Amino acid sequence: MKTLPNVTILATGGTIAGTAPSSTQAGYTSGKINIDGMIQAVPNIEKLARVDGEQFSNVGSQDMSFEIMINLSCRINALLATKKINGVVVTHGTDTMEETAFFLNLTVKSAKPVVMTGAMRPATAVSADGPLNLYNAVAVAADPEAREKGLLVVMNDRIHGAHSLTKTNTTSVETFLSPVNGLIGTVIYGAVKYYRGPFRQHTVFSEFSLEGITALPRVDILYACADMPPDLIDCSVANGAKGIVIAGDGNGNMNEATLKKAAQMAGQGIFIVRSSRVPTGTVSRNVEVDDDTHQFIVSDELNPAKARILLMLVLLKNRSFQQVQELFYSY
Ligand code: ASP
Repeated sequence: MKTLPNVTILATGGTIAGTAPSSTQAGYTSGKINIDGMIQAVPNIEKLARVDGEQFSNVGSQDMSFEIMINLSCRINALLATKKINGVVVTHGTDTMEETAFFLNLTVKSAKPVVMTGAMRPATAVSADGPLNLYNAVAVAADPEAREKGLLVVMNDRIHGAHSLTKTNTTSVETFLSPVNGLIGTVIYGAVKYYRGPFRQHTVFSEFSLEGITALPRVDILYACADMPPDLIDCSVANGAKGIVIAGDGNGNMNEATLKKAAQMAGQGIFIVRSSRVPTGTVSRNVEVDDDTHQFIVSDELNPAKARILLMLVLLKNRSFQQVQELFYSY
């Protein structure tokens, strides 16, 4: 008889664990059901893997913190360092899923599968999407072929890479897309198919380590808009930001006044990353902005939320702006 792989599910909260007083109402509260209840709601999960659950936190992911993320990454590393565990699933709210996914993609030090999932509809809703998402996530985490693919996110039958996915719709179950690079694969009722490997460096190939780290440097995101007030930058720096990600308009642009202020701060050693508020596409160097002169960094394919995560990890060490730019092309 085939021995089943061991998969641990770490539950952090979110809508997948949410409940509402009625199965057809829009209002609900995230993070109400515990891990045992979530596992019990998934028929035949025991045929995919020997599943074990741990309640790690129980928050809506709008309340996800770096303290939880750091502890989560360390817990995953400890679990996967044991011979017994073959893969890990993390259940998480969808609001900040892409941030935690990218953070784990850069800080988990194992080739074994790590898969995140969640739900757009609470557990009590008619046609709740959580149970099938969890079933599919366990199928991927139990699959030896999911090794060395970085952090994967399974939602609505799709397998996304942490570098590429983004939430695109506030309510639809088809909210996650990988618009620039495409999907890693699909998983239909547990049948896994891969189309391609992950983009960029990740997990075992990542140079970022959380050893001895309990907090990360402050990095703020400032959203560019017509007539943007440049003193937002002063405010961030005055409050301790070591780096600023501009969610720029178009190809990472900002108005002249903000550009001047950003250049002044870059001259004082604050790391300025130009990303974009536009949902798809890359931000490239020296197009309408003279990045070389101003010592700015471009986010390349990373959206502002993920560019912030990378910059926080990058700033754990002293680096020049050229070195930081290279890292944005590598991760
Ligand atoms: N606000 C919820 C969360 O991110 C939404 C969800 O999980 O879909 O926890």
